[in-house]
Amino acid sequence: MSVVGIDLGFQSCYVAVARAGGIETIANEYSDRSTPSCISFGPKNRSIGAAAKSQVISNAKNTVQSFKRFHGRAFSDPFVQAEKASLAYELVQLPTGSTGIKAMYMEEERNFTIEQVTGMLLTKLKETAENALKKPVVDCVVSVPSFYTDAERRSVMDATQIAGLNCLRLINETTAVALAYGIYKQDLPALEEKPRNVVFVDMGHSAYQVSVCAFNKGKLKVLATAFDTTLGGRKFDDMLVEYFCEEFGKKYKLDIRSKIRALLRLSQECEKLKKLMSANASDLPMNIECFMNDIDVSGTMNRSKFLEMCDGLLARVEPPLRSVLEQAKLKKEDIYAVEIVGGTTRIPAVKEKISKFFGKEVSTTLNADEAVARGCALQCAILSPAFKVREFSITDLIPYPISLRWNSPAEEGLSDCEVFPKNHASPFSKVLTFYRKEPFTLEAYYSCPKELPYPDPAIAHFLVQKVTPQTDGSSSKVKVKVRVNIHGIFSVSSASLVEVHKSDENEEPMETDQHAKEEEKMQVDQEEQQKTEEQQQAQPENKAESEEMETTQADLKDKKVDQPPQAKKAKVKTTTVDLPIENQLVWQIGKDMLNLFIENEGKMIMQDKLEKERNDAKNAVEEYVYDMRDKLCGVYEKFVSEDDRNSFTLKLEDTENWLYEDGEDQPKQIYIDKLAELKALGQPIQARYQESEERPKAFEELGKHIQQYMKTVLAFKAKDEQYDHLDEADVAKVEKSTNEATEWMNNHLNLQNKRSLTLDPVIKAKDIQAKIKELTSICNPIVRKPKPKVELPKEEQKPPEPNGPVDGQGEGSTAAPTAEQSADAPPAAEKKLPEMDID
Ligand code: ATP
Ligand code: MG
Repeated sequence: MSVVGIDLGFQSCYVAVARAGGIETIANEYSDRSTPSCISFGPKNRSIGAAAKSQVISNAKNTVQSFKRFHGRAFSDPFVQAEKASLAYELVQLPTGSTGIKAMYMEEERNFTIEQVTGMLLTKLKETAENALKKPVVDCVVSVPSFYTDAERRSVMDATQIAGLNCLRLINETTAVALAYGIYKQDLPALEEKPRNVVFVDMGHSAYQVSVCAFNKGKLKVLATAFDTTLGGRKFDDMLVEYFCEEFGKKYKLDIRSKIRALLRLSQECEKLKKLMSANASDLPMNIECFMNDIDVSGTMNRSKFLEMCDGLLARVEPPLRSVLEQAKLKKEDIYAVEIVGGTTRIPAVKEKISKFFGKEVSTTLNADEAVARGCALQCAILSPAFKVREFSITDLIPYPISLRWNSPAEEGLSDCEVFPKNHASPFSKVLTFYRKEPFTLEAYYSCPKELPYPDPAIAHFLVQKVTPQTDGSSSKVKVKVRVNIHGIFSVSSASLVEVHKSDENEEPMETDQHAKEEEKMQVDQEEQQKTEEQQQAQPENKAESEEMETTQADLKDKKVDQPPQAKKAKVKTTTVDLPIENQLVWQIGKDMLNLFIENEGKMIMQDKLEKERNDAKNAVEEYVYDMRDKLCGVYEKFVSEDDRNSFTLKLEDTENWLYEDGEDQPKQIYIDKLAELKALGQPIQARYQESEERPKAFEELGKHIQQYMKTVLAFKAKDEQYDHLDEADVAKVEKSTNEATEWMNNHLNLQNKRSLTLDPVIKAKDIQAKIKELTSICNPIVRKPKPKVELPKEEQKPPEPNGPVDGQGEGSTAAPTAEQSADAPPAAEKKLPEMDID
């Protein structure tokens, strides 16, 4: 089971995985741990990540980036409309009214939903994780900005499904950071002690988020969050872009904004300059060659000028910091540390603003780029049964108050009730009770639209169906469970009708049973929460909150909750019947549509794979052409006749031209065939070359064996004591075989020496190896025959020689050194041996 965390950033994404050794941020195929949030559509395939980023300028119209914030937004959304103008690609209104992206893909104009585009990015990140883990990845935790509304969250959830992922939790980015901070801390205050309050600040490319969290041993509670949803690195880039557009516009008479490619290039250069200024306060050049109309442009910038320009942006750093303290009712002194992450916190002035506000140095103990992904992986490990992690409970919060509105027959109008106030703990469930005779609709909405960084406060309509009156015609008690789930998404998750079966008409309904049931239900709610909230700690707090919230509306006339418990006797029976709920969610992709997107993503993945294989086959032809052409004039030159070389070179040239012309875009098999055709010509040349490299070595080895056997034969004939145990007939056999081998070798050497290198050799290295084997198998058993042990009379035993083997001692025999020596190069023979030519 996979344990993966994904930081889905506006500019770039990070993937972290949990392995036995801990959490690890993993690198993509470019050995880069950051993968650009970028997809480029081409005529044959898609490129995702770094490969797409390199096409931002060359394939500007079909290269999609900066799409993270379009999730769950209508095309008419003012945010989308404002962004539209600065994008190189086109946004379109989809039939559902939501925002779509138009691109030429596979030579066809296609409209993709944001969920599909993020799904593509997630597919890439999934593959990156799979390559690192060497197993399929399904379960994961994905980060979202803490200010995302339900529509945005649901949209990201859909994207994870399109990519074939099972998202165990959508976690708020700052909460992931808090987890990455807290889980390793060994010195957190005990549960009964005052918690440690830490502020987390994340300023990325598109947004600025702040949270304050309370830590105790084994748990973290998010106390408050605040944000500036449009303050991020790109706003700082925009300042520089604006400055240079004007400067270069005046200096070189260029209308930069009229050319999207020039604008994109300038943006890229401005971002680089911005980063340089973080480390360097001196004047820095801004040079771009062939910028527009073949004009080279140049200018300068420095940090103090930049800061002046960004004054307005920097003034926006403080308000969210103040807001979290106010919301959490904390003073600056109550803050133990301020941890900063996100690329834009590297701007010294941003850092200064934060530390000045808190009156203390900011901490940079977390990895500014990877903390979110690491926190996600940690959360995934906590949720995954496959992984054992230190107990750590996370209580997040609901950033915007959520209310329900319904039609109230008793009040003859609309009634409403705030079900979750701002900063209420999350995930959380509550049970509401209604008294109704017929189906009714609950309309969920964000009750403070002014605070909402989203134009539509509506969340969803929930139609509670199949509500019927009691048998006596009175209203039925309907219990409705509302919850904000682990992803931070609100829903009316279930509804049930309590049927009262009275045994005595005059008796009051028995409420204790119901309460018991409700308590059971609440227990279930709490159990669901236990996955992320530590039981002992969460329970007392939750209990108060989770108690049934009776609606106080006037239509609840026949409510019996005020019955004193002692009046309730077991004379009635109740049963509960589950009621179906129909959801009408804002911007929710239908199931059929989602399945279609999943299917299409599968097709696109397959297409990318086929295209990669086709390209690999083409590259193999190209590589072979270049390699062979080089070698034909180099190492292979001697091994091919001039005629053959000329015609082969010509063929290689033709192939090269073909690759740029007709062969530029052929099916994979054509390239495979082409390579085979070339190899049919090249292979024999290559083989001759290889033989010529190996042959001398093989002959030399054979020669050494021959010399060594000859030497043994001569020593035997000279009555050398070392060999006097050998049998004469056996030695004669060695001599005969050695002589034959010498003749065989000389013959082949002579023949080969006379043969042109451009022709296949008369003898192959493997034949020589076979000859060596044949010779050694005959001779070795004879020459290596161990010398028999000589039993010396005791008194004649000499003390051992200091450097020599001792006869009869040790486990090896006395003949062993000779035999061993024979395996290596023997010392030069005393007698002249047959001459050998080795080419
Ligand atoms: P978001 O969090 O908004 O979704 P993101 O996670 O992709 O976006 P980060 O990777 O945290 O964003 O930060 C990227 C931003 O940080 C870019 O604007 C980049 O230019 C900026 N940045 C990175 N390094 C530096 C630096 N040394 N100085 C200034 N800015 C930097
Ligand atoms: Mg980020």
